[in-house]
Amino acid sequence: MKLSINSTFDAGNIELINLDNPRNIQLKIRKDTESDFLQWFYFRLQGAKGQACKLNLMNAGDAAYPEGWENYQARASYDRETWFQVSTEYNDSILSIDFIPENDSVYIAYFAPFSYEQHLDLVNNAQQSPLCSLESIGHTIQGRPIDFLRIGNDDKDKKNLWIIARQHPGETMAEWFMLGLISRLLDEEDATSVSLLKKANLYLVPNMNIDGSILGNLRVNAKGVNLNREWLAPSIENSPEVYFVKQKMKEIGMDFNLDVHGDEGLPYVFISGIEGIPSFDKKLNKLTDSFMNNWKTINPDIQDKHGYPKNDPGTANLMICSKNLGEEFNCLSQTLEMPFKQNDNIPDLVYGWSPERSIKLGESLVASLFSIVEDL
Ligand SMILES: [Zn+2]
Repeated sequence: MKLSINSTFDAGNIELINLDNPRNIQLKIRKDTESDFLQWFYFRLQGAKGQACKLNLMNAGDAAYPEGWENYQARASYDRETWFQVSTEYNDSILSIDFIPENDSVYIAYFAPFSYEQHLDLVNNAQQSPLCSLESIGHTIQGRPIDFLRIGNDDKDKKNLWIIARQHPGETMAEWFMLGLISRLLDEEDATSVSLLKKANLYLVPNMNIDGSILGNLRVNAKGVNLNREWLAPSIENSPEVYFVKQKMKEIGMDFNLDVHGDEGLPYVFISGIEGIPSFDKKLNKLTDSFMNNWKTINPDIQDKHGYPKNDPGTANLMICSKNLGEEFNCLSQTLEMPFKQNDNIPDLVYGWSPERSIKLGESLVASLFSIVEDL
């Protein structure tokens, strides 16, 4: 069978340079829409069953985070359900994926994708719980609804907890995390979830950047805008995804926010806090510490030895979501980062950091929220 490469599907991203020699298949990652960022790839290889293939991503050195390729293993799948690691090396600005497909059709991606169809299943299934409602709170640049889930009864005396994910569309682990979080919150046999919902309303945006996800982008929306730099002055014209969500936050109020991401470089799960915002005080400091200390006991995938350096007082960039909201609502507001590589503390040599681990981390957030909800 003749070899072929294709990426004309939801979240697909690759350009073919040369397919003459299976040991030197030459490919290029396409740039994000209206942007110079590139890193997300997702394509289908056909006709290579039993054949040793070497797929060279020739422009990997131009990626947004070239350090993301060090000790990184690409993911592959035959059924798009199980995504396993394949032997990958980064040399001289080229990322080389070397393996022998067991089937004639194999998918290869930067990380296990989370498709728009999966997103629609997630929100439409959630709304069937009596605890949950689904609302469209505005439209993206390309006219898709911005899906917003309310879990709880909107009681004004309860705390308002926000969790949003996937501002950066290539960070698909963020939506896997939301899948775990939402399914546990809606489990009426789960005493922790039931007890949390007695004290809190949960407001969730499982995918902040639907257009970018479908376009196969790493970081930006359909206008080439990085949504996580838009929180100071979002606009309907360039960043409607942030504009409408922030409007809803102001309408409802906020006592807690978590913005869920993936980090290309670091092989750990970690949190980036709001130490540098002007109104960071003793109360926020204490909440930051107890949230971390509790969560890492509940799920040891979370740790605080490795992460971004903390901002000095007053130096936080208020264009960034978690910092902007922490300042505006004077509440605990943080960015969660999961790895594309591994959690080096608890490595999984077959799957690396995976949808399953992201789901379990999302489930575990319920218990960590329950542990601090009274103090928020
Ligand atoms: Zn991100």
